[in-house]
Amino acid sequence: MPQKDYYKILGVSENASEDEIKKAYRELAKRYHPDRNPGDKQAEERFKEITEAYEVLKDPEKRKQYDELRRMQQSGAFGGAGGFDFSQFRQGQGGGARAEDVFGGLGFEDLFSQFFDQGEFIRQERYGPQKGEDLYAEITVPFDMAVKGGTVTVRVPRHEVCPRCGGTGAEPGAKVQTCPVCKGKGVVSEGLGGFAFSRPCPRCQGRGVIITNPCRQCGGSGRVEVVRSVRVTIPPGIEDGQTLRLPGQGEPGPAGGRPGDLYVKVRVQEDRFFKRKGANVYVEVPISFVQAALGTKIRVRTPHGKKVELRVPPGTQPGTTFRLRGMGLRTRNAQGDMFVTVKVQIPKHLTERQKQLLREFAKAA
Ligand SMILES: [Zn+2]
Ligand SMILES: [Zn+2]
Repeated sequence: MPQKDYYKILGVSENASEDEIKKAYRELAKRYHPDRNPGDKQAEERFKEITEAYEVLKDPEKRKQYDELRRMQQSGAFGGAGGFDFSQFRQGQGGGARAEDVFGGLGFEDLFSQFFDQGEFIRQERYGPQKGEDLYAEITVPFDMAVKGGTVTVRVPRHEVCPRCGGTGAEPGAKVQTCPVCKGKGVVSEGLGGFAFSRPCPRCQGRGVIITNPCRQCGGSGRVEVVRSVRVTIPPGIEDGQTLRLPGQGEPGPAGGRPGDLYVKVRVQEDRFFKRKGANVYVEVPISFVQAALGTKIRVRTPHGKKVELRVPPGTQPGTTFRLRGMGLRTRNAQGDMFVTVKVQIPKHLTERQKQLLREFAKAA
């Protein structure tokens, strides 16, 4: 390994601020990221270098140690002729000062395992949680289905594992290289305060291999977009605008992570007869003024499709509302009622005989 000047690698000055370092790193990492340069060994090396430099310089404590190391190296404390050979240090072969003396009890191995614990930055800078993205859809269901429940098939465009490469991202038959960071395991672990954490390897994104010949169908991403039919169960009593969550029906998680969820917003079509408010339903039923005056029994259709008998007492006034208990919608947490409002109809056309009877009725009153 050649000598490493982390400042030079990131193209920043020794006095660069944390922000400047971050910015420089981001730009370089973007340019040299292996995903953007598949198969390019030089870019890969460069990316490693940039990462390594950033790992150290972004951390004030590590940077301080590094500056110290660098200062000693420049002043010849290690006996080197200006070279700053990390591979030597890593193997504990640096001549001159003993590690313990310089780093307060931290051996070189410890120090550099700290320095070279790659990946942490990636979790913070590049990768969020490993869950796939959530997807959103909207459907409209008939009023009847909202009452009784049912199933609807929704077509959802989403990504799936590429059928050509099986998600590896590599062209079938192409040689793949075992990931040097995780040694093919796909996960890296780190100790933190006495606990060990495992997470997907940031270098290979959990695949365990480095792709040099990307799959022709998916371009190396391991995913393709497909339109999938998803069956959505509509619970009885669902309300207009309610959103259903279908766990695991979103985008697949990167590197085999948990898939996201699918959120389906349900619109309920209006019904000509039934109006709805929560679990209650409201209807208007016409009756004649004679029925209103003398009383009657009418049959009313409920949202569940059956007919119930409603007794309209004599002398019922126009606009009177009757409540049919329990005849509304059954939702998850309520059993609604049905409200029947009578519309008293006044005849527009009367025969001579009818007119005569009404006149007699008026006189009798
Ligand atoms: Zn593929
Ligand atoms: Zn790996």
